[in-house]
Amino acid sequence: MASIWREKNGEETRRPQLAGDMETEAAIIGGGLTGVLLAYRLRERGIACCVLEADAVGSGTTGGSTGKVTAQHGLIYAKLLSEFGRTKAKEYAQCNAAAVEEYAYLVEKEGIACDFTRCSAYVYSRDGMAALRDEAEAARRLGLNAVLSEVTKLPFPVDGALCFPDQARFDPLAFARGLAKRAEEMGAAIFEQTRVTGVEDMCVLTAEGTVQAKHVVFACHYPIINIPGYYFLRMSQQRSFAIALRGAPPLSGAYIDAQQGALSFRGARFQDADALILAAYDVRSGKNTAGGKYRELLSIARKFYPECELIAQWSAQDCRTADEVPYIGRYSAETPNWYVATGFNKWGITNAMVAAARIAAMIAGEAVEEDSIYDPQRFKLLPSMKNLAGDAGNTIAGLAKEAFSLPEETLSALPRGEGSIVEHEGEKYAVYRDESGEAHILSSRCPHLGCRLEWNPDDRTWECPCHGSRFSINGEILSEPTVRELERKA
Ligand SMILES: Cc1cc2nc3c(=O)[nH]c(=O)nc-3n(C[C@H](O)[C@H](O)[C@H](O)COP(=O)(O)OP(=O)(O)OC[C@H]3O[C@@H](n4cnc5c(N)ncnc54)[C@H](O)[C@@H]3O)c2cc1C
Repeated sequence: MASIWREKNGEETRRPQLAGDMETEAAIIGGGLTGVLLAYRLRERGIACCVLEADAVGSGTTGGSTGKVTAQHGLIYAKLLSEFGRTKAKEYAQCNAAAVEEYAYLVEKEGIACDFTRCSAYVYSRDGMAALRDEAEAARRLGLNAVLSEVTKLPFPVDGALCFPDQARFDPLAFARGLAKRAEEMGAAIFEQTRVTGVEDMCVLTAEGTVQAKHVVFACHYPIINIPGYYFLRMSQQRSFAIALRGAPPLSGAYIDAQQGALSFRGARFQDADALILAAYDVRSGKNTAGGKYRELLSIARKFYPECELIAQWSAQDCRTADEVPYIGRYSAETPNWYVATGFNKWGITNAMVAAARIAAMIAGEAVEEDSIYDPQRFKLLPSMKNLAGDAGNTIAGLAKEAFSLPEETLSALPRGEGSIVEHEGEKYAVYRDESGEAHILSSRCPHLGCRLEWNPDDRTWECPCHGSRFSINGEILSEPTVRELERKA
């Protein structure tokens, strides 16, 4: 099953691939919310641009998000105040609050049908009120409207909730597709099925052709160039699981547990009826080896809503930075005309709007906050080293080259419908044995940086626990940062 947004919107007519070489002012890698918002912002300024999308517009994390349009990002403001100080924390708060209003404005101005609905956003707590009180005070100090309440519309008792009124929810895929069309009408070129495989100086490389640009933007969720930038040392990817239900009572607000990874709720519309989205878990990509997440979520839902019916289930991943603030701005000191927007920490809807505004202004040579909380050049050594340490022993380079077959007795002992790491003559292979018994044998090393892959039994994918690249059972790329498929052995 795909996400509720894909079920709802269906397939879109495919756009053309890049065909041959071209030149433009700004090449945007990635057609998620960040990429299409940026293309729109550049065209507003009359700047020529193209978007190079590996799959289809909105097919990445955007199409798997829960679509809460809010400046309430869990419990973040007390932390930002203490770690970054008032000026920078206020920049984050005000930019994200403005982004909510900007969505409302754009939806109206461009007539984008995406179920944009105003609602309150709540962080609820079942573990006392202290953290909510601190957050409410911090949010108010930063100029946000934050109200504590003791009751919610949730189907279980809570100690209380922190409400941000006048936020919103929408269908993120419908919005991304709608805005992409508008950006094209305004002159942006959008290419799909066009994976960028590298960038050499100011030339963007794909299998279909090249784009020579004055500015290159990495809006591809996880930056695909390792050096310079070193984003692979600064971020991990976290995967969450979601289900959508019919038959639960309508829920007007958007709710999230103060405890990270616990239940998130929001109402939605599906086929002219009310639906409910429940999301949970916060698993490092490639570490979901236990499985059973969708079953568990559905059984929780059925406790609250015994009559409910499953209409969609999906998972998606987002990049997490060490300090929980995205990297938006110059890619590295050595590449003044490369830009990046990443590390949205599962709050990328308003942050994508912030990124588009900031990067468009930088490209246009307009004044931007130089000492910004979003500056990608900030670098926290300790957490980055931890991220690296997590990879140690996993980054042995070099993939076995020769074709081979595994012994029949080894293969026939593997469970059907599951993936297993199989050792043979000192080498480990990622083997999926399908329901008919046929084995799909791949290298077990991620082509990005050589980490050992893990099997995700819920989604039946191979995943890199270091940087979050994902592959199908046949080795096709499902998620960046890899730009190379997994080597097929047999
Ligand atoms: C389960 C979940 C729920 C979430 N819910 C919310 C929410 O309610 N509110 C909120 O604010 N945020 C939420 N988020 C976060 C938010 O969805 C993301 O941060 C945001 O969508 C990221 O947008 P993006 O454009 O940066 O990335 P993406 O949408 O992933 O777009 C990047 C695009 O780049 C393409 N790409 C990758 N590599 C290449 C390449 N080499 N060449 C060309 N193209 C490439 C991909 O195909 C993809 O389409 C959620 C995240 C998750 C995981």
